[in-house]
Amino acid sequence: MTQIAFIGLGHMGLPMARNLLKAGFVLKVFDLVPAAVDELAAEGALAAASAVEATQDALVVISMLPASRHVEGLYLGDAGLLTALKPGTLVLECSTIAPESARRVHQAASALGIEMLDAPVSGGTAGAAAGTLTFMVGGAAATLAKAHAIFAAMGSNIFHAGPDGAGQVAKVCNNQVLAVQMIATAEAMAMGVASGLEPGVLAEIMRQSSGGNWTLEKYNPWPGVMENAPASRGYSGGFMAELMAKDLGLAQEAAQVSGSSTPMGALALQLYRLLLKQGKGKQDFSVVQQLFVE
Ligand code: NAD
Repeated sequence: MTQIAFIGLGHMGLPMARNLLKAGFVLKVFDLVPAAVDELAAEGALAAASAVEATQDALVVISMLPASRHVEGLYLGDAGLLTALKPGTLVLECSTIAPESARRVHQAASALGIEMLDAPVSGGTAGAAAGTLTFMVGGAAATLAKAHAIFAAMGSNIFHAGPDGAGQVAKVCNNQVLAVQMIATAEAMAMGVASGLEPGVLAEIMRQSSGGNWTLEKYNPWPGVMENAPASRGYSGGFMAELMAKDLGLAQEAAQVSGSSTPMGALALQLYRLLLKQGKGKQDFSVVQQLFVE
């Protein structure tokens, strides 16, 4: 079975790697946090003490890191990981990063005979655990064909968005919609409850009506409405507000480059920046609910 190096075992990487193990892939894993490596090693993965060590004997490298600077820091430069990989290695970069950043890694990889796909995901930590993520892939179609079985072990929807960087463009468009929906849901929940409605009743009415959206289906921001949502566990776990702010910043950059008008995305970014100033950046992004509650 193909040996895969998996780098970055955070909220998303850990459950994604777990699904690859379940599917029978041999995994050698690395994270800057040793406890995450130990957790997966106890479940059958090989532990590595560095990214380079994780990639020895690997035909495929998967990375799931926070942001552009972590990805460029890992792969690029004279001592970057790309220089340690054999030609023919397949790199699947799943973090959400700037399309430009992804293209820089694509270019450097291609110069070394390494195939790469930018493949950010949607579906949250629940989708990562259930193996039902959506992959938005940028790069050559022939490379995607080679990687398909690996993505299928972690997700249920695999889209070819277009050439290098296109997966990241699709992802920032999607997350801008998600942020706007989350904020709209949070302000409506707060208004309804302040006006005397039961939060669970209001949430169910909107979910089944024309205001229905992904956050009402799977991720209600009001504590106690959905047992498994981060809001019901003190906004812990899930998708950190600081990562949403990062994605909204990437969306604004994309709007600038393409000359697009994105007033809703701009406002969403401002609200998430406010949350970061309040020290809530490490909490799940549904903590935006608290901006609307006394
Ligand atoms: P996270 O912060 O929980 O995990 C990132 C992990 O990368 C951490 O464990 C960190 O120690 C590790 N790391 C950082 N630099 C490293 C390096 N050089 N070498 C090895 N490990 C390193 O973040 P996350 O929530 O898992 O998100 C990862 C990416 O996926 C982000 O780009 C995020 O925007 C995106 N994403 C997250 C979600 C979500 O719901 N959490 C959903 C879709 C996409």
